[in-house]
Amino acid sequence: MNQLKLGWIGLGNMGNLMAKNLLKAGFELMVYNRTRSKENELIEAGASSAESPQQMLQACDVVITMLSNDAAVKEIFDGTNGLLSNSITGKLLIDMSTVAPETSRYLSGRCSDHRMNFLEAPVSGSVKPAQDGQLIILVGGTVANYEKAIPVFNVLGKLSVHVGEAGVGSSAKLAINYLLGLNLQGLAETILFAEKNGVSKKDMLTIINEGACGNGITKIKSAAILNNDYPAAFALKHLVKDLQLAKDAGLDTPLITPLFNSYRQALAEGLGDEDVMAIIKSLANKAG
Ligand code: NAP
Repeated sequence: MNQLKLGWIGLGNMGNLMAKNLLKAGFELMVYNRTRSKENELIEAGASSAESPQQMLQACDVVITMLSNDAAVKEIFDGTNGLLSNSITGKLLIDMSTVAPETSRYLSGRCSDHRMNFLEAPVSGSVKPAQDGQLIILVGGTVANYEKAIPVFNVLGKLSVHVGEAGVGSSAKLAINYLLGLNLQGLAETILFAEKNGVSKKDMLTIINEGACGNGITKIKSAAILNNDYPAAFALKHLVKDLQLAKDAGLDTPLITPLFNSYRQALAEGLGDEDVMAIIKSLANKAG
């Protein structure tokens, strides 16, 4: 049994799988999710359930959040019975959601006001790496807090990188998701162009994946493209959020505006809850 008692808030596509790995690794785990029914699977696997984030904080050494966006994280920290509704000296709060660097700096300051410790630890990698404990974890905060969290990160990921103070981890995450957006937009445009000119999706994917332009993400998304079926691993709405956050944080490149508009258009067409690769459906519609 690992010694730290952990609390986990947010059992969505990622959080559910990550929390399960901590339980399997022998951590004592308490869970909380806004939609309470999503806790059942974890409770059956041995976790306990908290009445509120505040109750969880009282019972646990470390509380980890994995939530949709900045508003959700702020609600769990600052809301009624939220994590910051009392000061409990020495607790460690780790936010693994993808949020604005500014939000991480704000939470770090608020925790410090409450004599508590804070780390941001957004992740690179989607549901398969989450399931396999193979995420890459981008950590911002003090080295002392990072060292305390390493046993947790070692279960969730294949690599954790301490990149700097709070805010820097979120910046690294927004940067890698810009590259993700470019990759998938490029893959979708390439497949549609080839198909329009007589090259099958299957042949084009083989040409991409066997050559120097193929990469981890083109390979992961190939099956969805072939089946034309896009259940959310990473929901398209979350990438729109991340590109907006990157723009707000100062990303000002030739491609960010058309890229953002393309994914935003797909969101407006109702594709937000599908996987980010569903961008190809939006582009296909546009091409007629
Ligand atoms: P998700 O499936 O949409 O789950 C979101 C979680 O946030 C759910 O537990 C949801 O609770 C909770 N939530 C939303 N609004 C809330 C609020 N106002 N108050 C309390 N709880 C709230 O998201 P996900 O895919 O797990 O992603 C989580 C985070 O990781 C996001 O920031 C995302 O950008 C990032 N991320 C995702 C991936 C990926 O591939 N999916 C990869 C890397 C990073 P309910 O169950 O009640 O809705």
